[in-house]
Amino acid sequence: EAKASGKNRYAFFDQEMTERAQASLSLRHDLERALDSDELCLYFQARVDIARSRICGLEALIRWNHPSRGLLQPADFLPLAERSDLICRLDHWVLKQACRESRQIQKDGPDFRIAINLSARDLYETKHLQRLIATLEVEGTQNPLPLEIEITESILMHDVELAMDNLRRIKAAAPDVTIAIDDFGSGYSSLNYLRQIPMDTLKIDRAFIADLGTENGGAAAIVRSIVELARNLNLHVVAEGVETEAQLGLLRELGVEEAQGFLFGRPAPIANVLDASRAPGFPQRREWNADN
Ligand code: C2E
Ligand code: MG
Ligand code: MG
Ligand code: MG
Repeated sequence: EAKASGKNRYAFFDQEMTERAQASLSLRHDLERALDSDELCLYFQARVDIARSRICGLEALIRWNHPSRGLLQPADFLPLAERSDLICRLDHWVLKQACRESRQIQKDGPDFRIAINLSARDLYETKHLQRLIATLEVEGTQNPLPLEIEITESILMHDVELAMDNLRRIKAAAPDVTIAIDDFGSGYSSLNYLRQIPMDTLKIDRAFIADLGTENGGAAAIVRSIVELARNLNLHVVAEGVETEAQLGLLRELGVEEAQGFLFGRPAPIANVLDASRAPGFPQRREWNADN
C-alpha cells in the first residue's frame, strides 16, 4: 500500500517534470521563432536628471509579445535564454533595435544616453564579445545618441580580471560608449577592483532605494557612501527603482544625480515615454503618469 502510493508519487513527479521540460522546450522554440518574427519589442524607461528636472536618457528593456501567452516580462524568458547562445542573439537584437528606435529622438541635451543591458555570455564569450564590439563600433559612431551598456555587478565580479580586459577592449573600439554597473551595491565588489574597472556610471540597486526613509536607517548610509565613492572615482550615479517623492527628496539631499523608476513612469513603448516626458511639468507633476 505505502509502496504503491510512493510509486504513484514518483510517477506524478515524473510527469510534472516532463511537462515542465516540455514547456521550457516549447518556449525555447517559440523564442527562436520570435527572433525572426516581430514578436520581440522594446520598452523604454526614462532616466531623469534630478537637479535639472528633465529626462536625460532611456534604458531599453526587452519584452516578448507571445502569440498565445500575451506580453511576457524578462523574468519569464531570459533565464531560459541565458542557458544558451540565444541570450546573445536577443541582446544583439536589442542593441540594433534600440539604436533604430532612438534615431527618432530629438536630442535636447548633451548627455542623453540610450542604455542597453548585457548578459554574462556577451561579456565573457569571445565570439559574442567580438560581434558586440563590431556592432558597438558602428553604432557608437553612427547613432546620434551616445550608448551606454549596463552590466550587473554580480556578472562583473564573476571573473573580474577577464571582465576588465574585455571592457577595455570595448572602450578601445568604441570610446564613446559608456559603461554602467547595474544593481550596484548588492554584489561584492572589491574597492581595489572598482578603481581599475573602466566604467562611467554606478546604478544603485533598487533594494537600497526601497529602504530609504524606512526604519532601516542603513540604506541612506549606504547610498551616501556610494555617492562619495562615485565622486572619488569620477563616476555618474543613478538611483534605480525610485517610486516615491520622499525617496526622490532624500536622493536629492544625498547628491544623487539621476533617478529612474515608477515615479517618473513605467517602462513603455518609446513614443509613450517621449510623449510623457514632453508633457507640461514633467517630471514634477505626475498626472500624465497613469500608473501612479
Ligand atoms: P534592470 O536592468 O535592473 O532593469 C530595471 C528593472 O526594474 C526593469 O524590470 C524595470 O521595469 C524595473 N523597475 C524600474 N523602475 C522600477 C520601480 O520603480 N520599482 C520596481 N519595483 N521596479 C522598477 P524588467 O524590465 O522586468 O527587467 C528586469 C531585468 O531583466 C533587468 O533589470 C535586466 O537585468 C534584465 N533585462 C531586461 N532587458 C534585457 C535585455 O535586453 N538584455 C539582457 N541581457 N537583460 C535584460
Ligand atoms: Mg518587470
Ligand atoms: Mg539595467
Ligand atoms: Mg538594475
